[in-house]
Amino acid sequence: MNAPAHDNGRLALMLNELRLPTIGRLWPEFVERSDKEGWPATRLLGALLEHELAERAKRRIERHRTESHLDPTKTLATFDFGMVPMVSKAHVTALATGESWLEKGATILLFGPPGGGKSHLGSALGHALIDAGYRVLFTRTAELVQKLQAARQSLQLPSALAKLDRFDLIILDDLSYARKDQAETSVLFELIAERYERKSLLITANQPFSGWNDVFPDPGMTIAAIDRLVHHSTIFELNVESYRRRKASDKQSARRRQLPNDNCEGGTTTMAS
Ligand code: ADP
Ligand code: MG
Repeated sequence: MNAPAHDNGRLALMLNELRLPTIGRLWPEFVERSDKEGWPATRLLGALLEHELAERAKRRIERHRTESHLDPTKTLATFDFGMVPMVSKAHVTALATGESWLEKGATILLFGPPGGGKSHLGSALGHALIDAGYRVLFTRTAELVQKLQAARQSLQLPSALAKLDRFDLIILDDLSYARKDQAETSVLFELIAERYERKSLLITANQPFSGWNDVFPDPGMTIAAIDRLVHHSTIFELNVESYRRRKASDKQSARRRQLPNDNCEGGTTTMAS
């Protein structure tokens, strides 16, 4: 085979045209090494392609992270499971791989009073699932309801719902704040019905189901929504006191404990000198 000889400029142009930026960046160094060490051509080609693929996967995950609107600080690494003894870390870790539940469009429900860590835990699962290659959207429920309502008014609801299909998981934060008197929340029901058994939802709510009559326009719709959500679901109840309040009172009692210690320390210093 008589392959045409290429100058560097032409190679750069072709790699650019083919959208292979990593190879474009790395090939001069790789070619030099390959020439020096006498690599077989397949090794050179393989090494360059592997790098392109790895960078591409990394960029894809970065894009997914940006589009998710997840708070970057709320991860599993920063979540203290010791604060919520009723939540099994092993169970959450298993859910963080996504496979078993996302594939069947199952639901996770996080209930509990304000400040107990529902949004943090939901976000943490979201981050882990993005790392595992899934696409996630984090949104306050009231905000998404507003957007879907606007879409309905301009007769775009089906296409708005279809666009949300690209997300393997939508995290609806604070469901209890989407009130039927503020918004005609049947769009929320349509979202739930549209995704049922296909694409997953994770919902956080201050109120358990008994308080959901305020969320949907009528009791029949509330029952129908709950029915779909619980069919394939995992429920965590984070019935703990507010994390911030506990931290604040821990600090206070530590401070109280420290005061006599301060005096002791003074004493120790005196004794040592
Ligand atoms: P909720 O959504 O239940 O109202 P948040 O998840 O917003 O509560 O938690 C309130 C604050 O406390 C956040 O800053 C969150 O990061 C922090 N927090 C709550 N629980 C924990 C926990 N178990 N470990 C670490 N931080 C926590
Ligand atoms: Mg919250």
